[in-house]
Amino acid sequence: MSVYNFSAGPGVMPVEVTNQIQRDLPSYKDSGMSVMEISHRSSLYTELELEAEQDLRDLMKISDDYAVLFLQGGGTLQFTSVPLNLATHYHKAVYLNSGYFSKKAIEAANRIDELTVQVIENSDPTSKLPKIDGHIDNVDYVYLTTNNTIEGTAYHQIPKFDQSLVVDMSSNILAEPYNVNDFDLIFAGAQKNIGPAGMTVVIVKRDKLVKQQLLSDVMDYRIEDNKHSAFNTPPVFNTYAAGLTFKWLKKMGGVEAIYQQNLEQADMLYDFIDNSKVFNNDVPAAERSITNAVFKTASSELDQEFINQAAAHGLVNLGGHRLVGGMRASLYNAMPTDGVVKLIDELKQFEVTHGG
Ligand code: PLP
Repeated sequence: MSVYNFSAGPGVMPVEVTNQIQRDLPSYKDSGMSVMEISHRSSLYTELELEAEQDLRDLMKISDDYAVLFLQGGGTLQFTSVPLNLATHYHKAVYLNSGYFSKKAIEAANRIDELTVQVIENSDPTSKLPKIDGHIDNVDYVYLTTNNTIEGTAYHQIPKFDQSLVVDMSSNILAEPYNVNDFDLIFAGAQKNIGPAGMTVVIVKRDKLVKQQLLSDVMDYRIEDNKHSAFNTPPVFNTYAAGLTFKWLKKMGGVEAIYQQNLEQADMLYDFIDNSKVFNNDVPAAERSITNAVFKTASSELDQEFINQAAAHGLVNLGGHRLVGGMRASLYNAMPTDGVVKLIDELKQFEVTHGG
């Protein structure tokens, strides 16, 4: 059965990638072993890890000043790894609270006794995103979430600081161009724009890394950098699959090209919603996510009716996060434009039959 998968994550993967995985499953590069069986100490793995890393460096223009790590533990482990690795001088960090996953990061940072966490809330009623400009003295880093997966908001322009900036880019890495040099650390779980769940990309400025005493070796970025992310058994299959996605994206023309496609898809959908009498989105246009579009009808019953009807027509996983309800269409890089066209057709049909 063929469907369009609008899930927020694990999300849609490129069909070219899942086809290649099927070809490689019985015997990877004629080794006679499945890609899931190859040793992480073999040259087969070392080559695939180095190639994946280089392709990601090419796609995001990451210089050698940065380590590129492929780790386990999801974005959630990074909520703790980031402060333990980086908040070592002032023992103070500033967090912009832009939604659910920022709050999770703040909660994790607050559990560290010696760390002072300053939280910036949004104070502008015309905006959904907290902002700060200029200089904040004596902090180890400022933290923000570039794309808020649940709330459907995004920082398309990154505030300029002279301090260290740490970002959770889990839901829009490789979906729109950001300048890596604006950040000291970027992390992102793979399961949206990169590949299967189970691997987390960390891109961190090498000169920020200091020797850690009490940290688990697998959380210590310096050790993982020295060991090419293979201090212990790394997520071999996930790194392999991520590598295939990086190759696919390069073939598609890279981040700039996919960004144009993502913009076009998001514009089409938001344009329909903005002109709809049944569906609406209340995020200011400049702050709207292009990867997670959220929208609602006038009632949760009607929302559910739409979600069920769309699913029956092969447009699946359109339900919003349980905390906010409504609908959410996740338009990750692998979503074909045809899927968005079909979604808009479905919304139009629903509108016709429900008083639009
Ligand atoms: N950060 C963001 C922006 C997310 O969207 C998610 C998950 O959806 C996470 C962090 C948590 O990631 P994980 O489930 O990989 O720990």
